[in-house]
Amino acid sequence: METTLILLKPDTVQRWLIGQIISRFENKGLKIIWMKMMNLSEEIINEHYDFLADKPFFPKIKSYMTSAPVVAMAVSWTNVIKTVRILTWATNPAEALPGSIRWDFALTIDWNVIHASDSEETAQIELKRFFKEWEITNYTKISDETVG
Ligand code: ATP
Ligand code: MG
Repeated sequence: METTLILLKPDTVQRWLIGQIISRFENKGLKIIWMKMMNLSEEIINEHYDFLADKPFFPKIKSYMTSAPVVAMAVSWTNVIKTVRILTWATNPAEALPGSIRWDFALTIDWNVIHASDSEETAQIELKRFFKEWEITNYTKISDETVG
């Protein structure tokens, strides 16, 4: 099974959307193995978005990501990284497909409600960034034996 890192961003928390967005993952049958609400430090944001550090919109990302807590989640399933990216769709909600999380909920490219890892390599780095091994839960879901 593959695992991905999801962040429900501050606008999701501010706009009472946490439950509706988590429902998208539950409806799809994905397995949530870890979840926590946290305020992001400047240090973790610098690390997480280091590839954007020289972009003019970087200060906006920083103030957005520190404006309220995020909900950080680790979600597992076969092919989960791609599945969650499809559920999420384009960075800019104007370019997302109707029915996707960003089309249905996101306001703009700056306030796009969710982060999801984009490859296996990034997922490994991002999962380690946001939680320690011992924080992961370990349980069997009824669907694990059939599809997981
Ligand atoms: P995320 O990493 O948050 O899941 P993503 O993988 O779709 O989003 P990235 O290219 O990794 O997109 O960009 C990270 C974040 O930086 C985006 O979610 C968005 O908030 C912001 N961002 C990216 N490009 C732009 C842009 N051109 N203008 C404004 N903000 C941007
Ligand atoms: Mg990204």
